[in-house]
Amino acid sequence: MSRWKPMPLVEAFQRRTSDILSSMRSRFRGKWNKKKTRLLQVGREVPIDLEEFRAWVVARLGGTPDGCGQCEYCGRPLDAMDFRVDHRLPVSRGGDLGLANCVFSCDECNRVKGQLSGDEFRWLLEVVSRMSTVAQKDVKERLKMGAGFRRLRFFGKQAKNPPPLAASQQLPLEEPF
Ligand SMILES: [Zn+2]
Repeated sequence: MSRWKPMPLVEAFQRRTSDILSSMRSRFRGKWNKKKTRLLQVGREVPIDLEEFRAWVVARLGGTPDGCGQCEYCGRPLDAMDFRVDHRLPVSRGGDLGLANCVFSCDECNRVKGQLSGDEFRWLLEVVSRMSTVAQKDVKERLKMGAGFRRLRFFGKQAKNPPPLAASQQLPLEEPF
């Protein structure tokens, strides 16, 4: 009999939501050069507290931490361990850091969307979905390869220590994005 026990789901949920919010905070924190003589990036405060963030996630999981929700862009089912937080209007384009601008999304949509707004990205998905199967596969692969260069921007584990991955390893071709 194995002694290994999975981490209780609620505990894992608490840890993950806390990690994601911390990643968001550190991502938008002010950054200085090494000698601390020059401000490289003006910091912005993430106006979300942990309880608020957890409530937002739980609502998207159908009301419980161990529930299931879906990517607001592609509809892929998501649980508390695999969702990402996307900004509907990218922060780089003036998007707000509050929950009203946050989107519950899958990893692939979060990566592929890049600097597009939520509407622009939906429009792109719609256009691609009208293409032939061959063209869809080709366009999706190109988008994913482009997205591979943005790994450092992601929240969660990958953001802290991104492993060097070949572009072909990153996302399976058959997966919807
Ligand atoms: Zn998605």
